[in-house]
Amino acid sequence: MNPTATLPAPVNAPASSADLWLEILKLIEPKIQRGPFITWFKDTAVLGSEEGSLIVGLPLPMFLTWHMEHYRVMTLEAAQTIDPSIRQVVYTVDVGLKDNRERSTDLLEHFPEVKKRKIAGRQEVRMAEGIVSKILSPRYSLEKFIVGSNNRLAHAACMAVCSQPGGKYNPLFLYGGVGLGKTHLLQATGNSILKNHPRATVVYTTSEDFTNQVVEAIQHGKMEQFNRRYRTVDVLIIDDIQFIANKDRTQEIFFHTFNTLYEERKQIIISADRPPQELQLEDRLTSRFARGMIADVSAPDYETRLAILRDKAAEYEIFLDRSVLEFIAEHVTRNVRELEGILTQAVALYELEQRMPTVRSIAEIMAKLSMDPLQDEEKVGFNTPPKRKPTFQEVMEAVSRYYSVSIQDMIGASRVREILLPRQVAMFLGKKHLGMSQVRIGEVFGGRDHTTVLNALKKMEEKMHQDSQLLREVRAIEVEVGLA
Ligand code: ADP
Ligand code: MG
Repeated sequence: MNPTATLPAPVNAPASSADLWLEILKLIEPKIQRGPFITWFKDTAVLGSEEGSLIVGLPLPMFLTWHMEHYRVMTLEAAQTIDPSIRQVVYTVDVGLKDNRERSTDLLEHFPEVKKRKIAGRQEVRMAEGIVSKILSPRYSLEKFIVGSNNRLAHAACMAVCSQPGGKYNPLFLYGGVGLGKTHLLQATGNSILKNHPRATVVYTTSEDFTNQVVEAIQHGKMEQFNRRYRTVDVLIIDDIQFIANKDRTQEIFFHTFNTLYEERKQIIISADRPPQELQLEDRLTSRFARGMIADVSAPDYETRLAILRDKAAEYEIFLDRSVLEFIAEHVTRNVRELEGILTQAVALYELEQRMPTVRSIAEIMAKLSMDPLQDEEKVGFNTPPKRKPTFQEVMEAVSRYYSVSIQDMIGASRVREILLPRQVAMFLGKKHLGMSQVRIGEVFGGRDHTTVLNALKKMEEKMHQDSQLLREVRAIEVEVGLA
């Protein structure tokens, strides 16, 4: 039977069809993200089964291709788990299912949203010799990196380094503005080298972390050990090297580390926000950087932006109309992080309100984020002007998203830890970045007394000193909302 055949919907499908569909949905639900699950399985139903064919009703014609392409195999597998006699899934459009609680499964009732607090994984590894490296995120791969004229050279150089670490392109120096893919390329290269050489010691660190390690080593009189340890590294990746400007001792130590590794033909990869000669670093260091390969990444052009959007949309399993993708690509021009930001918002729209993003809703989101499509686009480059300060509402929204708690709860009276921490984080950010007074913060947070606020802020300060995980969480929110 042709799987797209439009069959007449059997009237009075047996009651067990609903049960069957629910069982199937229970198997499907964990496999896809919540937003797409709700969107694409809302108002669906099993309309019957005939000769080993499970007939699945969809409320709109546009669901048909999407289900065929994305969920058919999954649905079949789930169906077969429950009823092995089912051999195929056949879709039929039945507009009568739309918003019909009687006939379709009420997803929100059967699959209520479970609030999960994001548990950030351990972000650091202590390497064998005690060197600290950040964990390379599997999210970053060279395959997932969209190549355009803006990053072709940088990408090619990374590929070359992967196939021959410590070879011709040593050191590899990538530079460019914020959100243009440097970290992605660096981590992806690290990942790829590790895949080919699982026993290699690949260290990825930011120049800030490197500085901290140097400071720690000096403090504890362990410089010699530090140097010895770094000699065991096969690939040293340092992100955002610009931050060691003005740190003379760190520069000196880095210089020696660099030389040692370089002489032993170990691969060194560095990124910065500007080319070597413009970095405020010692000349002997910048001249070393210039020995290998230097490549820049700039802002993607329209076609590349569109390609990135398509790819990310597929990754998020979100269906966006072509006109929507084109609209975003036209108007969000500065960097890739902003492109992703818009997509995240679109996903939220999907998840929270079960609305398909339209050009109009995207334009609204952009206006909210002060990315008014009608405004002049700011020039791209590493001198990107500082962004406007976010409003406290935006800070609250970011905290709420990060910890998956509602703003309502944060403002409310609950004292459970899951709410307490986000509340303190939000207060802290309001105080630190927006200069809000304790009285004002108290008002915003449901009329709390200013001494209560003061205590919360004190607690937060204390915790920040002891808990590096919390520091990172706060930092992540700051970055997200444009405060860092
Ligand atoms: P940078 O380090 O230059 O500030 P990132 O590497 O953090 O930028 O990139 C910001 C985001 O954009 C990341 O999520 C990254 O995966 C994504 N990104 C950037 N460029 C590309 C690209 N060409 N293809 C796919 N994703 C990209
Ligand atoms: Mg980066």
